[in-house]
Amino acid sequence: MNPRTGRFAACAAPAAHDKYEFEKMIYPIVIYGNETLRKPSEPIAPDYPELKKLIEDMFLTLSEASGVGLAAPQIGKNIRLFIVDCTPWGDEEPACKDYKRAFINPEIYAASDETGLFNEGCLSLPGLYEEVRRPVAVRMRYLDENFVAHDEEFDGLRARVIQHEYDHLDGKVFTDHLSPLRRSLLKSKLLAFAKGKYRCSYKAR
Ligand SMILES: [Zn+2]
Repeated sequence: MNPRTGRFAACAAPAAHDKYEFEKMIYPIVIYGNETLRKPSEPIAPDYPELKKLIEDMFLTLSEASGVGLAAPQIGKNIRLFIVDCTPWGDEEPACKDYKRAFINPEIYAASDETGLFNEGCLSLPGLYEEVRRPVAVRMRYLDENFVAHDEEFDGLRARVIQHEYDHLDGKVFTDHLSPLRRSLLKSKLLAFAKGKYRCSYKAR
């Protein structure tokens, strides 16, 4: 997920001799129109090769793109994994302070009746922001990067980014939640993404 307000503190520049290794770990982000974003993703087995390295690389990729959330399909992998880094929202919401987590095989199994609007963006749809209505709180079971099981309730901005990233695992993007009228008004913008006509400050494909 792409936060609307400004850029956030970038991570420290790598020392010159580390540059090759540093860049090697940043994945290009898959842009709308790529079929990977529309495929449902598969659960991850505990013996999935180099999962911790993949999660580290995803955090680096997310930081480079100044985003708050990234799902594996957005780097071309149809596996049930997403990460969030809510630290850019730490000042406005205390629960977001230093909140960085990986979620494996998540399952949202309950949602609040109360819904709210929020202006969402997505690293896979650069420059597009729309008001999206979602439940304000959800309950989710998931595994962390050590395959330890958790069952938690999320609200506020964390509930928002978690629902956005969770959608990616089911082949959905935030524009799917808009009204048919709004979607038809955005048709040419969405087609432009698919044709490679977009601008972003991070590596994309
Ligand atoms: Zn997204």
